[in-house]
Amino acid sequence: GQCTLVCPVGALIETPHWHEVLHTLDAHRRISAVQVAPATRVAISEEFGMKPGTVSTGRMINALRALGFDYVFDTNFAADLTIMEEGSEFLGRLKSQQNLPLFTSCCPGWVNWIELNRPDLLPHLSTAKSPQQMHGALTKRGAFAQSLGADFANGKNEPYVVSVMPCTAKKDESVRPGVSGDVDHVLTTRELARMIKARGIPFSALPEDDEFDNPLGESTGAAQIFGASGGVMEAVVRTASHFIGREDSLPLEWQQLRGVRQGIKEAQIPGIGKVAICNGIATLQKMLQSEQWREEYVAIEVMACVGGCLGGGGEPKSMDPDILHKRMQAIYQIDSQAPRRRSYENRDIQKLYATELEEPNSERAHELLHTAYAARNSKRLLLMRFLDCVDRRDG
Ligand code: SF4
Repeated sequence: GQCTLVCPVGALIETPHWHEVLHTLDAHRRISAVQVAPATRVAISEEFGMKPGTVSTGRMINALRALGFDYVFDTNFAADLTIMEEGSEFLGRLKSQQNLPLFTSCCPGWVNWIELNRPDLLPHLSTAKSPQQMHGALTKRGAFAQSLGADFANGKNEPYVVSVMPCTAKKDESVRPGVSGDVDHVLTTRELARMIKARGIPFSALPEDDEFDNPLGESTGAAQIFGASGGVMEAVVRTASHFIGREDSLPLEWQQLRGVRQGIKEAQIPGIGKVAICNGIATLQKMLQSEQWREEYVAIEVMACVGGCLGGGGEPKSMDPDILHKRMQAIYQIDSQAPRRRSYENRDIQKLYATELEEPNSERAHELLHTAYAARNSKRLLLMRFLDCVDRRDG
């Protein structure tokens, strides 16, 4: 049947791309790499009849290799990188007292909303790209691509980059001005499940033993919790406490910032200030009704979907009223068992700064990992919807 999925913030309609991806993989003209978002490895299990909350990381990697991807990377690697960039930007703003509170920028549903509805607030948005775009930029134009023989001057041998996301708005993000070209195709979790089924890969029978490839694969527990509402802020706080020399006195876990119930969650972080989480766009809209947020908070996380990405529009549909909670628990469980739980402890990230990026917010880091925003009217989105209707095929 026709695959039409409405984005939770009404930004766009899902266009399936999985036929095109299979076609490109089969042709095998370029080295291919896929990155997978944190929420997908949990939710994909539901598509194959497993219990909600089952973690299928190894099975999913096995399936992606069986589909023909040469490299299987973890978007989480870039989530750690986002924290390094956004965390440093945040501490810089705290120091200069400019453009506070900082708004997180990794949710394109929210970025679309603010560009369309409140462009006056754009200076508050972090300039850090989302993990998807950071990962794509590094895979295509960083040292990894060079090691594969990519010739940037002549645009040759550039790897083919696909991402799997829980989110329909990520498709729109990948063609935004300024970041377009980082990622070739974006698939939703549901589309990945369709590809696996179409190829007759026995997902639930696959071994749970495979691991992500390196160098763009290692990640910490802090990156894992990006998939849940409150996770990005908790990850920022974990690394910021290290940067301000308070790592030993501040807790690693911030329960006040966790949970899938709607409304504002907040926490007072000693040495940093008060931070807030808007769980869903409706909560954000309520917060903006008064001007109090300007004085009250130093940083605000906004995720368009209730629950965060684990409630995203590309995730499997479920009738279980407790589904968000179950997915959330699975994510925090992966974090609690991770050997490293702060983004700056990621050894591949440390290497990346030592060899390529120098330091967070360096010139090279800005070139690859940051972007800009602009007020826009809805014409571009309407055009995309129109093209979407023309392009839509059997999902
Ligand atoms: Fe996409 Fe996550 Fe934002 Fe929802 S919260 S729109 S899934 S990035």
